[in-house]
Amino acid sequence: MNILTCAQALTAAQELGLERLDAQLLLLHVLGKPGTDRAWLLTHDTTFLPQETGQHFRELSLRRAAGEPLAYLIGSKEFFGLKLQVDRRVLVPRPDTETLVDWALQQLAQADMPDSARVLDLGTGSGAIALALKKSRPALDVTAVDASIDALAVADANAQEHQLAVHFIQGNWFENVSAPFHLIVSNPPYVADADPHLPALQHEPLQALTAGKDGLDDLREIIEQAPAYLQTQGWLLLEHGYDQARAVCTLFEQRGFAEVQSRADLAGIPRCSGGRWPGAALGTGSQTAG
Ligand code: GLN
Repeated sequence: MNILTCAQALTAAQELGLERLDAQLLLLHVLGKPGTDRAWLLTHDTTFLPQETGQHFRELSLRRAAGEPLAYLIGSKEFFGLKLQVDRRVLVPRPDTETLVDWALQQLAQADMPDSARVLDLGTGSGAIALALKKSRPALDVTAVDASIDALAVADANAQEHQLAVHFIQGNWFENVSAPFHLIVSNPPYVADADPHLPALQHEPLQALTAGKDGLDDLREIIEQAPAYLQTQGWLLLEHGYDQARAVCTLFEQRGFAEVQSRADLAGIPRCSGGRWPGAALGTGSQTAG
């Protein structure tokens, strides 16, 4: 392989179909430089890349061109100001999920919430939501659950890296947690089994993405079971698909939640819905889930 300059390597990557920004971030990564060093690239157009570095860059560019998320290739993703380690064991945290964190923090700031409120994050994956909440409000008592031991290993490593004390529990949704919580949050799988977007997500764990024919299976289960794990007046806040807000709000209402509402993501799409549990006596939902 020819020895290339930085500028030539970037051009070659773009010819493979990479966005310029992705190419720059990958090049910085193989050079061992942080993503914030793009100014360095601008002033080093004519710098030659060591052959091995050039080859590594070419390999990663090909993988990016084949659709692998940039975060897996560079091994990390920024979420709510935290640099999280990610790999193919976990879904890549999305900026849209910061909407859920913002909303959760607003609820936690309300007068009736103790500083040490008990918070549960279901399906934590890389730990993104749980760690962002704990980082923002260190007195919180945060529990994070995932069915995947592999995902929990990633989340736990992130917690240690950022020195955030979160309790991690392996289990299927509420299976191994003890009630009650002041706030329950989740970004569960919500993509329909036959969704046409799935091929574009093929590098991420399917288990973290799909949830039945209409994508609502897990949202339904969480909404059904959550009241048994919520304090009276506690909140359940859920992320869902771009076209699921109405269906999810209906599920909340049918289960007997109050103040059911949605929040929009950065694109203005209602992306999270939630409600307050008024207490069993007022609940009009189906039978209490155990
Ligand atoms: N937001 C993701 C996507 O559609 C899906 C995440 C999820 O299923 N929770 O790319």
